[in-house]
Order: sequence, then structure tokens, then C-alpha cells
Amino acid sequence: MNFETFNFHPSIMAGVRALGYVIPTPIQVQTIPPILQGRDIIGLAQTGTGKTAAFVLPILQHLRPGPRGRVRALVISPTRELAEQTCEATNGLGEQTGLQSIAIYGGVSMEQQTRRLRNGVEIIAACPGRLLDHIRKGSIDLQHLKILVIDEADRMFDMGFLPDIRNILRCLMNPRQTLLFSATMPADIRCLVQEVLHNPVTVQIGRTAPALTVSHALYPVKQHLKTPLLMELLRKTKTESVLIFTRTKHRAERVAQQLVKAGYRAVSLQGNMSQYQRQAALDGFRAGSFKILVATDIAARGIDVLDISHVVNYDMPDSTDAYTHRIGRTGRVGKTGDAFTLVTSEDTAMVRALEHLLNVPLERRTLQGFNYTVPAPDSKFIRPPHQLGRRAVQKQRIGHN
Ligand code: AMP
Repeated sequence: MNFETFNFHPSIMAGVRALGYVIPTPIQVQTIPPILQGRDIIGLAQTGTGKTAAFVLPILQHLRPGPRGRVRALVISPTRELAEQTCEATNGLGEQTGLQSIAIYGGVSMEQQTRRLRNGVEIIAACPGRLLDHIRKGSIDLQHLKILVIDEADRMFDMGFLPDIRNILRCLMNPRQTLLFSATMPADIRCLVQEVLHNPVTVQIGRTAPALTVSHALYPVKQHLKTPLLMELLRKTKTESVLIFTRTKHRAERVAQQLVKAGYRAVSLQGNMSQYQRQAALDGFRAGSFKILVATDIAARGIDVLDISHVVNYDMPDSTDAYTHRIGRTGRVGKTGDAFTLVTSEDTAMVRALEHLLNVPLERRTLQGFNYTVPAPDSKFIRPPHQLGRRAVQKQRIGHN
């Protein structure tokens, strides 16, 4: 199958070609035809599957012939980065259509956004909070909305955005076409689906399992030896660009600083940074001036950087879902990638859950020549109880009783 099958307008096909897309991905094959027919959609797919183009392309096709200067498509995204990326995809694929899009999110000037809105846009990719601010101020008019996309719905729920989404939905007119994308379907999202979507077509791409193009390896290590092991791992591995995940903002910052000190072109991406700093870090990583990005889960949400050769979990994620999202950053659309996870004895339960999800035992690796026996210098390296796995906490409680 190729993109000609969908009969997109030549101006849209020009965008498809400009971005180098030749073969539609499975989610695109399954969702584009029903969206073009005007159906509501539930897309169960993780990032890296090509889901953005799966909704952007039919939006462009629907909106191209209609009136200009009115907001007719709205994509609600959990993070600024994802909103930006959706907007970039819209601009790239829709360059020849003349349709205008804008990304709306907090942390930057509201006036500037208002000015751009006043000039007339057809497509908005927005984070819930700032979108509500604009709606309340009257600077966004959604009266002519035809298509609503709720992207990464499960993540928005995790981030506490569901009440905002409901408030936004209350401001929208019916009827419209609604598309909801989510990697998982927790109960609250299921409720939302029932309230908001009409007779939807459900499209599921695989299980919520990490990309098959990624090889997964575990590196058992004591907590206090994680940074030296990371350094040794980086020294001994041929990498292109590396994304490292830590559990806390502070740790992301510290690991990045240690890497810089060791001579790596590294930068952190975490919530303590200003929007300007975050954008500079991301742009630098995308352009290749930073080879290593150290991020927390929330900050890294929706990062769309191609050619990430390695994802390193400095800290084990706290759910299999978070692992899937992290690993989704490498091995994207037909590329291969490696995922290294540093594991301590407290991570046993999560390792078991991951092996269950992947349906294979994960390879445990030992780094030749690395001294695993160096004792912890002092107790500050011992994790506080709230950071332990649930099983370990239970064991601890039992021990104390
Ligand atoms: P997404 O899952 O939307 O974040 O997309 C992941 C990456 O795949 C993005 O960089 C897209 O530009 C790229 N992509 C989407 N569709 C295709 C396609 N049909 N062929 C090649 N790359 C694609």
C-alpha cells in the first residue's frame, strides 16, 4: 500500500513527499480511511507509530476546501513539546495547502499567541490549561470547530488534565468529528470515550508493548554505582544520540552535569527549566549539538527526535506503561534501537512485570572490567523508602512489624 491509495489532494501529497513518507504505517492504513469518511475514532497506539500524521493528513484533506481564518480543527496535547510537534507536522505536511496552524501552551506570552490567533488560523494544537485561558478571555473562537483530536489521552489523565478537558468540551458545539488517541485505556478514559465519541471505530496497533525494533538489556548494579556504570557504558558503546531517563528532576540535572564534566555534550530536560531553556535543550539535541539528553518522564513526553540510538533508564520507570513510552523514543518507524536499564535489587518486581509484558526474559548484562564491588561512600546513596518498589516497601513493612 502507498499514500496514493488515500486520494489526498495533490497539495497534501506534496507535503507527504517533502517529509519523505513512502509507505503508510499500520496506524495510518487503519485510521485514515474512516477519518476521511467522517467517523469518530479511538486510536490505541503508542508514540513512534506515525499516529500524528494519521490524524493530521485527514484533517488537512477535510479543511483544505473550506473557509479560511476560522479555527476548524483542535488538537489537545498533554505537553508543549507534543503541541509543537503536532504543529510542525501540520506545517510540514500542509505547507502547500495554505492552512495555518499554531501551537498554544503556557509559559510563553499570551499576547503574542492572541495576536497570531487574530490573524486567523485553521488548526490549533494546544495544551489544556492555556487553551482554557484563551477560551475564557475570548481570544479563541471555537464556534466553527469541525474536528477535535484528544491526543495521548491516558497521559493527560495521568497529568491531571481530565477536568480541564471536560471544561473545554463544555465550550464546544456539536456536531463535530472527534478522534481520541491513547496508548492505554484506563477506566476514566473509557468513561470520557462514552460521553464524547459517537459510534467510534476502534483501531488498535499491537499491544501496548515496546517497539519490536528495540533490543532490551538490564544492567544490575548497586544504586551508588549507577553513575560510574553509566559512564563506562557510554565509553564502551558506540552511540549516536542517547536519551537518559531519571526518576527526579534533580537527578536529571545532576547526571547531565556529571556527564558534561566527563566531557560529553550533554544537557538536561526537566520541569525546573524555563520554557526557553527547555526549547534550547531540545533544539540542541535535535540538531546534534547535544549528543545526550537527560530527562524526566514528564519532560520527555512527546519528544520527537529521530535517530535516538540508545535509551538508558538510569532509574527504572515506575510502570510498564512508562517503560513503553520511554522506549518509544528509539527504534522509531523502521529503525533499530537499544534500551539499557540500570536495575537495583529494589526493581525486581518491575523487571518481572516488564518480562511479562514483553513475553521474553530480559538479558542481564555485566560490564567487563567494571568494578562492581566498590562500597557506598556513605548512607546518602541509599534510596529513601518512598522510592522503593511496592514489593520492597511491603517487605520492609513486614520486617518492621
Ligand atoms: P509519531 O508516532 O506521530 O510521533 O511519529 C513518529 C515519527 O515517524 C515522526 O518523526 C514522523 O515524522 C515519522 N513518520 C510518520 N509517518 C511516517 C511514514 N509513513 N513513513 C516514515 N516516517 C513516518
